[in-house]
Amino acid sequence: MERVSIPTTTPAETLARTLDFFKQHPVSAIGLGSFGPLDINPKSPHYGFITHTPKAGWAQTDLLGSLTRVLNIPISFTTDVNASAYGEKSATGVENLVYFTIGTGIGGGALQNGAFIGGIAHAEMGHQFVKRHPDDTAFPGICPFHGDCLEGVASGPAIEARAGRRGETIPEDDETWEILAYYLAQAALNATLTLAPEKIIFGGGVMAQQHMLARVRKQFSQLLADYVTLPSALTDYLVLPVSADNGSATLGNFVLAREKSYQR
Ligand code: ZN
Repeated sequence: MERVSIPTTTPAETLARTLDFFKQHPVSAIGLGSFGPLDINPKSPHYGFITHTPKAGWAQTDLLGSLTRVLNIPISFTTDVNASAYGEKSATGVENLVYFTIGTGIGGGALQNGAFIGGIAHAEMGHQFVKRHPDDTAFPGICPFHGDCLEGVASGPAIEARAGRRGETIPEDDETWEILAYYLAQAALNATLTLAPEKIIFGGGVMAQQHMLARVRKQFSQLLADYVTLPSALTDYLVLPVSADNGSATLGNFVLAREKSYQR
């Protein structure tokens, strides 16, 4: 009915604008999918907080509490990638899937039998460790915590730091893309070996480059070496989101909000 996009600036400004929107457009429940790391353990004293993010000003922000105290409605709270995974489940009916976003950061959300995975916290698939590409050993990676974890070598800012220019300006035949596909193929391989999903979905700005998915499929196939029999053809197994324009999280958040309002 109404759509708004609010830039992420300071917590105070961003949350004030968010609250203004919902004061003008009252709703009975909200699905909130946020960048992390988040405290999603309802038993924790810091449930609903963004925790130790490197994003300036946002560490230890009580995101859920800031909205709940003012709006006083049920709010489902999870990561942006979990919300995306949920949206893809709703759109396709597939209940065992992994959703990766490759953009300014890398994150992964997974569903098993329709439910989020995770015990004490949400998964952190973006920070998994990967084997370095032989032609990429000079690049130290940019993750402030781990250097050359997956996000440190394959996110949008990592591409820019390695090449000295933005990804959109790098030609399609540049080796950068093969290096990147090697890392994303490993993320898909690790997800296949650890979670045995029916589908792995790659979303986010970097995957908007039309040639990327084919490169990832090819390298994934080589790395897998037929060790696992896939549940479907490779072209149905490693896929882009069915929701257009990065809409998976929005769809997932609507479904999560509806489920949350039923629980009340
Ligand atoms: Zn990391």
